[in-house]
Amino acid sequence: MSRTYTRLETKLIHAGEPDPLIHGAVSMPIFQSATFEYSGEARYDDIRYIRLNNTPNHLALHQKLAALENGETAIVTASGMAAITTTFLTFLSSGDHLLAERCLYGGTYDFVTKDFQGLGLAFDLMDGDDPGSWERKLRPNTKAVYVETMTNPLLGVPKLREIVDFAKKHRILAIIDNTFASPVNFRPLDWGFDLSIHSCTKYLNGHSDIVAGAVIGRRDLIERVTHRLNHLGGTLDPHACFLLHRGIKTLAVRVRHQNQSALRIAQFLEGHEAVCKVNYPGLECHPGHARARELFDGFGGMLSFELVGGVEAADRFISRTNLPTLAPSLGGVETLITRPATTSHSGLSPEERMAVGISDGLIRLSVGIESTDDLIEDFDRALSNT
Ligand code: PLP
Repeated sequence: MSRTYTRLETKLIHAGEPDPLIHGAVSMPIFQSATFEYSGEARYDDIRYIRLNNTPNHLALHQKLAALENGETAIVTASGMAAITTTFLTFLSSGDHLLAERCLYGGTYDFVTKDFQGLGLAFDLMDGDDPGSWERKLRPNTKAVYVETMTNPLLGVPKLREIVDFAKKHRILAIIDNTFASPVNFRPLDWGFDLSIHSCTKYLNGHSDIVAGAVIGRRDLIERVTHRLNHLGGTLDPHACFLLHRGIKTLAVRVRHQNQSALRIAQFLEGHEAVCKVNYPGLECHPGHARARELFDGFGGMLSFELVGGVEAADRFISRTNLPTLAPSLGGVETLITRPATTSHSGLSPEERMAVGISDGLIRLSVGIESTDDLIEDFDRALSNT
């Protein structure tokens, strides 16, 4: 029997769990079996086989993820990039055109701007807060508009309501990468998006120990993504499914702590004389603050900032901090610090980075669940004499 739950915290724990429990196991067991006994499945996609993303570990996750964002169903993938590229390759065929936001995760930006052409796909980049540019760039062959809930690494908040209206008006798909917000802070399908994509590597898993992705949405759309994924082979291994399933259960407590901690850290940095710019949608000075307040339940655990002394000051500051680990990626329980120009956005040329506003000295912080006071004390000490 599949039960429905209303509140997010309860869905995180109970949605999609086997009922009755398998041999009474309170934690979902790992089904490490490549293939399963045939029981009359009529369709290729229903034959039970790990690559076809339908072992009990996959199915439980699909239900849980769909419940978190009020989608009909979901599909998990081998990584966030597998979710993104498979979605593009499902809904865009040779000759089609994508409208994508200018400031995207580096891997997505690279795929769109460098790999699309060889696949016969066209694209235009647009500004998430300039609807006029969307209309100007729309083409008869445009099939979808693609944005991120908060842009990486500048934490811009696109005009998400208007993006949905625009997509509906022109009968194209509205697709969003909701990784930075997580289902705790934003549920895109409730606002009219057709598909919500996650790098589950980040907040959903939350422990920096797997890579995984997901696409959530209407059943007919997810069935098409699943069919393409089954051919491309970007499946999530059952053991990684288990770890993701376990990590998801604590999502709400982790993300709520991270929301509060990141806001306090952003306020501290904003008031420090060595800091010249802080990008965090929870700050009143942020250009997208009013929009973020209207759309989001929390402002997230990510922020970026620039120091008065540029790259040298940034490197000095990073080397003096004790708590954060210098590493790309985000959304884990530990605080990570990075300079996007050398990691997540190193695939972009310096000119491309300048065009989207990513300076070489920009520092990105993924706030973990350590004591906020300890983090602020660490940053205060590292900032003196940068
Ligand atoms: N989307 C965003 C916003 C990301 O930050 C990342 C990775 O950093 C990805 C997608 C890609 O995810 P993965 O590394 O799981 O493939």
